[in-house]
Amino acid sequence: MGLTLPQSDAEIADVFSGNTLPDGAEPLAQVYAGHQFGGWVPQLGDGRAILMGEVVAPDGARFDLQLKGAGRTPYSRMGDGRAWLGPVLREYIVSEAMAALGIPTTRALAATATGEDVLREAVMPGAILTRVASSHIRVGTFQYFAARQDIEALSTLTAHVIARHYPQAEGPEGLLDAVIGAQADLVARWMGVGFIHGVMNTDNMSVAGETIDYGPCAFMDAYHPQTVFSSIDQYGRYAYGNQPQIAVWNLAQLATALLPLMPDRDAAIERFTELVNGFSGRFDPAWHAVLRAKLGLAEEEADDLPLAFDLLELMAKQEADFTNTFRTLSGPTPEAMAQGFRTPDAVQPWLDRWRVRLSRETRPEEARIAAMQATNPGLIPRNHRVEQAISAALRGDLAPFHRLTSALSTPFTPSEAEADLAQPPSEIERVTRTFCGT
Ligand code: AMP
Ligand code: MG
Ligand code: MG
Repeated sequence: MGLTLPQSDAEIADVFSGNTLPDGAEPLAQVYAGHQFGGWVPQLGDGRAILMGEVVAPDGARFDLQLKGAGRTPYSRMGDGRAWLGPVLREYIVSEAMAALGIPTTRALAATATGEDVLREAVMPGAILTRVASSHIRVGTFQYFAARQDIEALSTLTAHVIARHYPQAEGPEGLLDAVIGAQADLVARWMGVGFIHGVMNTDNMSVAGETIDYGPCAFMDAYHPQTVFSSIDQYGRYAYGNQPQIAVWNLAQLATALLPLMPDRDAAIERFTELVNGFSGRFDPAWHAVLRAKLGLAEEEADDLPLAFDLLELMAKQEADFTNTFRTLSGPTPEAMAQGFRTPDAVQPWLDRWRVRLSRETRPEEARIAAMQATNPGLIPRNHRVEQAISAALRGDLAPFHRLTSALSTPFTPSEAEADLAQPPSEIERVTRTFCGT
């Protein structure tokens, strides 16, 4: 039960760099296909990740343990199978921050420097990320077998995923229904913290409903629904506000991949279409609940959504910081929120409406403030801070990395000493582009 590691740091590093295998490990690389930016790629696969195997936790939960960047696999194509320190630390910081924010995600157990050079635009220090996930099975894993018309494998995969993740689900239809629900919930949570995945290709959508693939992802500073960071997302396909629609598109691909398992194809097409189109019926309530919680509304009224959307619109127009706006609204002096807007006076009418709405809440003020502070984080992994931590690490200074990860482990209770990490970037600190990070 659990993972038994050797005693010394050096021996532990040997395990997490793939030099020693843990007892019972049977490493393998997983194949998958996928739509990348809407274009079909019949074979992708973990070209730089080795699945060490499953770990059974003391409570019986199963986790995949994967080494990302450990070298070539059968799916490396032209790549070297390696990773360098920058993307490894980036995934470590952001995925651990997501976990602390309470958002389903793969986790980072360790980042190990390999001591080897990795050739990118320049020679970079090699590194490996030890990733933990409830599984690494993606929509693209289903697409791979469906495209090859390997019905037996598709059926085995479906049964495995149901048993592992959705034991209540009945057959392919039940699985589709469960994955749609998990993704609706996940994307609503992303939106609630201003997270932009950045590369929602079908091979980066986990059927377990965890956030996976921290390549060009980023958290917004100033709010705008069309925000894009990824350097390769030229047309904004994966912009912040497009994420729910893209989830639907990806889920339609999962539905298509599951169709060959259905004996009555025509009837299945009809039901699957209905299920996929039902996404918004599940996403909307989840997203609206997130918005009400962000505004401190425990009860539900018809005008709550216009209230929330009007604030977002004002934020977009006035380039208000997404995180800090809601955090200040959650504090003892919510009116101070207006200072984050270009013309603070323009925010007062909205604040007045919010106050009037709050007066009809039966929840005591203190409880409302506590709930809002447990929902609206004070700290997110801001891009410029992530970049600064990585630059310092490349110079051999891990202190900023440790300080950042430590602060982000309690994002709802930031300390005075961490106030600088809550600040949006200055003009010269601003990071406008993120990269896939190979
Ligand atoms: P990812 O950005 O990790 O989602 O990768 C997209 C595809 O490229 C997957 O098939 C990866 O396995 C593959 N890939 C990315 N980087 C490398 C690399 N350095 N070596 C081999 N394959 C890679
Ligand atoms: Mg990927
Ligand atoms: Mg990636």
